[in-house]
Amino acid sequence: MKKLIEKLEKEKILTKEEFAFLIENRNEEIAEFLFEKARKIRETHYGKDVYIRGLIEFTNYCKNDCLYCGIRRSNKTCERYRLTKEDILLCCEEGYGLGFRTFVLQGGEDNHYSDDYMCEIISEIKRKYPDCAITLSIGEKSKESYQKFFDAGADRYLLRHETADFSHYAKLHPENLSAENRQRCLWDLKEIGYQVGTGFMVGSPYQTAENLAEDMLFIHKLQPHMVGIGPFIPHHATPFRDEKSGTLELTLFMLGLLRLMLPTALLPSTTALGTIHPEGREKGLLAGANVVMPNLSPVTVRKKYLLYDNKICTGDESAQCRVCLEKRVASTGYKIVVSAGHHLSFDNH
Ligand code: SAH
Repeated sequence: MKKLIEKLEKEKILTKEEFAFLIENRNEEIAEFLFEKARKIRETHYGKDVYIRGLIEFTNYCKNDCLYCGIRRSNKTCERYRLTKEDILLCCEEGYGLGFRTFVLQGGEDNHYSDDYMCEIISEIKRKYPDCAITLSIGEKSKESYQKFFDAGADRYLLRHETADFSHYAKLHPENLSAENRQRCLWDLKEIGYQVGTGFMVGSPYQTAENLAEDMLFIHKLQPHMVGIGPFIPHHATPFRDEKSGTLELTLFMLGLLRLMLPTALLPSTTALGTIHPEGREKGLLAGANVVMPNLSPVTVRKKYLLYDNKICTGDESAQCRVCLEKRVASTGYKIVVSAGHHLSFDNH
């Protein structure tokens, strides 16, 4: 197995069978071997720096009905909210003071926010904070819409492919959604010139080692700038309420593999990872991640943006989260930096 890790480090790719073999037969010793290499590679490119992103969850209305997601349309117990442009700008103002230089606007797929309104929000943030990057995470749109957001000033786009395998995708989503369209969006975003983030849930229902191997191959083909992965965690008001969570251990292993395959990628240590283990995010950083995305949403709405149960940090003020994270990151030997934190292939100022 060490030979396979060394091969991945050198060639940045393995066959599907090799990935699946590693994932299926992994053990503690091989994981440590992997993480050590992952840390070395991340430090070669990014030193000890950890980039922070301020996450603004601006709407929990969603027209989709993804089977795993707590804000799915069918969840009638979810109390819905929307932030206005003014609310969002207040989050940015607070975030800027706390040292954030990237704002991530994430939400359900909510047509209340027309392309024009989104563009207005984007250009206003850019006008006020020209040294900040804007990341969008608002789901599947037409290439024309993506182009408009880009022209308005959006720099990056997060859209996890969720699972590369078409039939697995169909088990996690309603019929009107397809892996094909989701992947089409990712290629469009790349073509337009965004820094693109994809990703998947680890341990989602029905997932196999082969599925994860295919995720790695899809990511290799896409060559994204960012990859967000986190454990699947059940939400009590979804069809997957009784399913098991993904594990910390497998998520960390996948992070390590990703770092070896994409040496310069921006890899967040996600909130979901921090939710399944108290030191999950620290462990993620030590397995190859180099980004954290604390919440900048107003405290009044935080408990309403629940994609899964037991989400952490929903009662804390943004400033509290910032201080807490500073300590957590420092405990790993890494340090948070005040920077837009672009991918190395983009201008870093
Ligand atoms: N509407 C946007 C944002 C989705 S939320 C979009 O379509 O991209 C961001 C991510 O949260 C999703 O891509 C999914 O991978 C993750 N997520 C959703 N429900 C989850 C759950 N129950 N457990 C873990 N992660 C979940």
